[in-house]
Amino acid sequence: MSHDTIIVGGGIGGLITGALLAAKDRRSVLVLEKENAVGGRVMSFGGHHGSPSAEEYRNTLRGAANVRIVHTEPGLDEIVDDHKIFDRFILDPGWHTVGATNRNRFSLLAKALGKSIPVAPQIGFYFDSGAGFVDLKDVSATWPEASRREHRRVAAERVAISPAESARYDHIDLLSYVNMVTEDQLVRDYYLWLGRFVLALNDPTEGSAGEFIRTNNMPVAAGMHLSHGGGNGEVCRGFKTIADVFAEIIRENGGEIRTGAAVRQVLLDRNRATGVEVEGPAGPERIDAETVIVNLPMDAVGKVVPIESFPAELRERIGKLYSAVGMTGFIGVKELIEPDRPTGVFLVDPLPQHIPLKGGDAWLAFEQTTALDPTRRVGAAEGHYLQTWTVLHAKGEATDDDLLRRISDAHLEFFRSRYPGWDDNVEWAIFTQADRIYGAAPAPGIGGDRRPPVQHPLVSNLFFTGDTVTQTDVGTNGAAHGAILCANAVAGRDFLPLLPDYLR
Ligand SMILES: Cc1cc2nc3c(=O)[nH]c(=O)nc-3n(C[C@H](O)[C@H](O)[C@H](O)COP(=O)(O)OP(=O)(O)OC[C@H]3O[C@@H](n4cnc5c(N)ncnc54)[C@H](O)[C@@H]3O)c2cc1C
Repeated sequence: MSHDTIIVGGGIGGLITGALLAAKDRRSVLVLEKENAVGGRVMSFGGHHGSPSAEEYRNTLRGAANVRIVHTEPGLDEIVDDHKIFDRFILDPGWHTVGATNRNRFSLLAKALGKSIPVAPQIGFYFDSGAGFVDLKDVSATWPEASRREHRRVAAERVAISPAESARYDHIDLLSYVNMVTEDQLVRDYYLWLGRFVLALNDPTEGSAGEFIRTNNMPVAAGMHLSHGGGNGEVCRGFKTIADVFAEIIRENGGEIRTGAAVRQVLLDRNRATGVEVEGPAGPERIDAETVIVNLPMDAVGKVVPIESFPAELRERIGKLYSAVGMTGFIGVKELIEPDRPTGVFLVDPLPQHIPLKGGDAWLAFEQTTALDPTRRVGAAEGHYLQTWTVLHAKGEATDDDLLRRISDAHLEFFRSRYPGWDDNVEWAIFTQADRIYGAAPAPGIGGDRRPPVQHPLVSNLFFTGDTVTQTDVGTNGAAHGAILCANAVAGRDFLPLLPDYLR
């Protein structure tokens, strides 16, 4: 079968672009994915996703999601074989959550294409700065009246900023923005710790105010709220569901998806892409195509596209890209630790051990995933798991194994000291380090209009998709936005009207 459009990489960026082109532009799409399954960073394990051995799990995490296991208790073999976690639970490579719950970009796009990606809402957001958890909406309850008024004023002004207007703030750091909008220190501190959490960047001089404004305004535009519910949510049965749904759309529209098909290079003939060279069972195979779309993160694009084919200015921008990185944990427990707040997100800032990181001491976020999203438990499985998260700095911290061990110990120590009976309740723990939480950190200088374009400036039939290309969001929502903008460029059409205004 011949295909006119080849997509290199089956992450959600490649799959959403492919689904739009197959379903709405009647293109014959071929997706080539190097791993044994599609999904990239939204891999899921367990239940209907399959039960890998400890070794397969470790290798798949590393290969598909750039995630490595840094510490487990007990050993990983025992967790997989004796605790049978993949027969009991569905786990992602790390804690994923998506803004605006089921009114996010990929769920609404799937709906427009006749499919469903249900999302379980987080309800309740609890913050602890040392004195116990307080509901986010009550954090300001003990503030002086003037500060509470100022908080409402700053929030109202921010909500009034449209997505287009927010671009003005893309290259302004969060600290400068917060200091400019208010002189009230309580309000400043509130937005600074919230910013560390939503941008996955600890240092407020590194977070982009434009991204902060959009990330906060999107759930509001969707009618959602972090405390009251739906500000964030978990894709039911694991985030891999996103990849499965868009892969299904591609196949139903005549497309093909090949896994275990690593592309060696995109073939260029001067200013035209002519196809790709892919690893085949009998050696390298050449596949011709009229259009080639690359889903690799742009700072890794040189693995398949000669970097010297890009103009110097774009090469420089690609060279400056860096990711938001972090450490995530999965902890198996017999009983919920917060049975009265099962769907909440809990943020402890700072961790009591005061572990210094660039931009401030380490913090801990956690949720009771199987209570929030009961579809993560397989059949009548007993027990639950929690997910934990600490943000790190891309340069240095993520590769410091001693530091990662201190942080994972601090996560467990927090639960031990806060929840009586913890040692009898906890069954297993896996801590992972993720090299790319957000492929391009939401930072001034590399976000907004400085993200690489969806079309090669000199090779007009070579395109790029995913969370590191031109788009105005982070993570999965950002990958979906980049994917739609890429499909627009390929097809010469506008697919954004498939989504409501606030997501375009
Ligand atoms: C631990 C973790 C936590 C996260 N938390 C969140 C969160 O809370 N909220 C959120 O919205 N997002 C989160 N994200 C980010 C989100 O998962 C990504 O933004 C999104 O999945 C990116 O999709 P993508 O298609 O752009 O890239 P990728 O998923 O990286 O896809 C690239 C694909 O290309 C394939 N590939 C690479 N080289 C080749 C080759 N030579 N030939 C063929 N195929 C190739 C890869 O295997 C991969 O499948 C998290 C990510 C991780 C890892």
